[in-house]
Amino acid sequence: MSERTSHADRTELQADCGDCFGLCCVALPFSRSSDFPVNKAAGTPCGNLQEDFRCGIHERLRDKGYNGCTVFDCFGAGQKVSQVTFKGVSWREDPDSARAMYEVFPVMRQLHELLKYIAGALDLAPARPVHRDLRRAYDRIEALTRDTAETIRDVDVDALRGEVNPLLLRASELARAAVPGRKKNHRGANLMGSRMRGAKLRGASLRGALLIAADLSDADLRDADLIGADMRDTNLSGADLTGALFLTQPQLNAARGDARTKVSSPLERPSHWAA
Ligand code: SF4
Repeated sequence: MSERTSHADRTELQADCGDCFGLCCVALPFSRSSDFPVNKAAGTPCGNLQEDFRCGIHERLRDKGYNGCTVFDCFGAGQKVSQVTFKGVSWREDPDSARAMYEVFPVMRQLHELLKYIAGALDLAPARPVHRDLRRAYDRIEALTRDTAETIRDVDVDALRGEVNPLLLRASELARAAVPGRKKNHRGANLMGSRMRGAKLRGASLRGALLIAADLSDADLRDADLIGADMRDTNLSGADLTGALFLTQPQLNAARGDARTKVSSPLERPSHWAA
């Protein structure tokens, strides 16, 4: 449908753990559940975090019960906070900066997620009428991510989302209007556990839909808008998600799929999916 450029491939919007001080493994809390085998408070380093800020069980996370770690993506916020905001000085080297670093990281992650969505919209040729406004929004938010720790910590992310969302929605409408056929609208729908095997959802709106444990195996989801859709345990085996709008790697990681599931680059089939 659309001519794809490289906006969504921007390396600054992809996690680079080698340049990060393991911030997701320290700053964020987790609770004992099906996603984690233990409790951890915010600001406490995970017991598996090594001295070099690498995960000591990276290859065995699911075997060890750390499923939650395999569905997380910071969208490049970790290296931005580590290398730009705090200029390469870690919380181990400067414990006095640790608290500020942990406060900035979740905000930065939300800003980078917004940048990722805007970059995705800039990849959509039919959305050209809103590209200028999207570029302005991208540049403004990107500049904000390079501001001081205090400024970033105090950003009103909800207000920013309120400004950006209409642009993303318009981009989605323009892009999906270029898709042939009738488009279904399941925006915000509760489709938890629904049986939609083989559903024809090309160009559909599934914005914010609850797709938890839904059966979308062999579904046609090409060019469907999946922004904010909850895809935990969604069965995507054999589904075609080529060109799906605003689909993120964490959404895919939380779903189930197999070697037949089709996704567009830079997204990848998670290694824990069935072969
Ligand atoms: S298990 Fe590994 S990836 Fe998960 S929080 Fe701990 S160190 Fe980080």
